[in-house]
Amino acid sequence: MSNIIKCAFCSGSGKDPYDLLSPISDCLVCNGSGKVEITHPLKKCVFCSGSGKNPLGARVPCIVCGGKGSNHFEGDTKCTQCKGRGRSTDGLPCTSCGGKGFK
Ligand SMILES: [Zn+2]
Ligand SMILES: [Zn+2]
Ligand SMILES: [Zn+2]
Repeated sequence: MSNIIKCAFCSGSGKDPYDLLSPISDCLVCNGSGKVEITHPLKKCVFCSGSGKNPLGARVPCIVCGGKGSNHFEGDTKCTQCKGRGRSTDGLPCTSCGGKGFK
């Protein structure tokens, strides 16, 4: 079962939020549709706080959720290594859960 949600990276506009290529370039996450599909069940991405943007500063989609703002989760167990924050102490995605915070 899948769920159609608003694309977090472009906030549903379908346009590249950073105008990297041109002001009319399509969002690379949703291909301009403004919506993305994620398999149920899903949780807000803890690594980017649901923004879909890479919190490490680069103007690219979040490396954990791919810019969707949410991740598909089968498990509901908080990652003990990062305590559910999805990050290692160096700010990179937690190696145990892949940055999702749960597994
Ligand atoms: Zn988009
Ligand atoms: Zn994310
Ligand atoms: Zn973790």
